[in-house]
Amino acid sequence: MADVKVMAAAETSKLDLLLARFREIVGSEFVMVDAAQKEDYGRDKTEDYFFMPDVVVKPGTTIEVSELLQVCNQYKIPVTPRGAGTGLSGGALPVKNGVVISMERFNKILHIDELNLQATVEPGVITEVFQNAVKEKGLFYPPDPASRGSCFLGGNLANNSGGPKAVKYGVTRDYVLNMEVVLPTGEIIWTAANVLKNSTGYNLTQLMCGSEGTLGIITKIVFKLRGFPQKNVLMMIPFTTNEEACSAIAAIFVAGITPSGMEFFEKDAAEKTFAYCEKVLNSPVTTKLTEGMNAYLLCELDGNDEEVLMRDAERVMGVVEKFQSGEVLFADTAAQKEELWKIFLRL
Ligand SMILES: Cc1cc2nc3c(=O)[nH]c(=O)nc-3n(C[C@H](O)[C@H](O)[C@H](O)COP(=O)(O)OP(=O)(O)OC[C@H]3O[C@@H](n4cnc5c(N)ncnc54)[C@H](O)[C@@H]3O)c2cc1C
Repeated sequence: MADVKVMAAAETSKLDLLLARFREIVGSEFVMVDAAQKEDYGRDKTEDYFFMPDVVVKPGTTIEVSELLQVCNQYKIPVTPRGAGTGLSGGALPVKNGVVISMERFNKILHIDELNLQATVEPGVITEVFQNAVKEKGLFYPPDPASRGSCFLGGNLANNSGGPKAVKYGVTRDYVLNMEVVLPTGEIIWTAANVLKNSTGYNLTQLMCGSEGTLGIITKIVFKLRGFPQKNVLMMIPFTTNEEACSAIAAIFVAGITPSGMEFFEKDAAEKTFAYCEKVLNSPVTTKLTEGMNAYLLCELDGNDEEVLMRDAERVMGVVEKFQSGEVLFADTAAQKEELWKIFLRL
């Protein structure tokens, strides 16, 4: 019995020592041990899972992340990096308890380099905030997960997130040139160089993409950017069946047209979403579904030349006419476009 008490006392004093070290590294206000403070860090958006972390730490610099990882490595303490906690695959859940390292204080856009079409950011920047900041300079960061209003760029990288624009522009991994990463030992590395062509050495940058926090903690990211496409056309195309709609998608691509967004949805899903918008969100929907049609494609084309866009839109219509489709709805105003995308993203 005495031995058990001695062991328990030893464990308690080890924990106290560790907490003291964490507080030394990041400051007391950024070390959470109270259940109420830690609760939100025990879940993400993956169903109803919950794993209470032993401690949540919020570093503010790369050096702090490095020192934290050195301590955790030395004492073999499980570490779970966390962005905004919007993940749907449980990556941010501290399934082995231990330490959650929240990256929420890494929220700065460090540099937008208009000359080289690049930007250097911290991983806790919200995706949409970044998109808007580069758009103000005429630049475009295309990856657009539906959670872009709340998720972080570091989480996007660790999950290799994509969204409707992936069909033309690719996903997060297609826009990263280089990143600063703290390895589990605390060593700080850069994975590549800030150049478009980098042909030598192992591709550590891509190894980190989709690694879900298992290989290290990303502390800076260099993204490449594009010019912002000035114009777009958005069409909602009804079809009699799911099969007709899906066959039309392939035919559009075979015809040499690359939409900037291409999404499929069924009538039932659309009706439920309309009802949800109207009854729960109290936000009336002006879009009308077409009688007798059971499947829809949302097809967006973008570019800088209105005439080319309209010609491509006509070509899309020419293609879908060969299938059992109904009258194509064109979203004419920005408000209509926004409504259509919002509906789709809630599906
Ligand atoms: C309503 C909704 C819509 C969504 N839509 C999409 C979508 O369209 N497309 C899509 O791909 N996903 C989507 N998701 C899933 C999720 O939003 C994304 O995967 C997002 O990239 C997660 O970012 P986060 O900051 O919330 O990361 P978290 O959930 O906090 O973490 C995700 C993973 O990244 C790791 N991680 C976080 N930060 C770092 C870091 N700095 N260094 C190393 N590892 C780190 C974590 O350990 C974890 O493994 C959606 C989620 C919701 C709730």
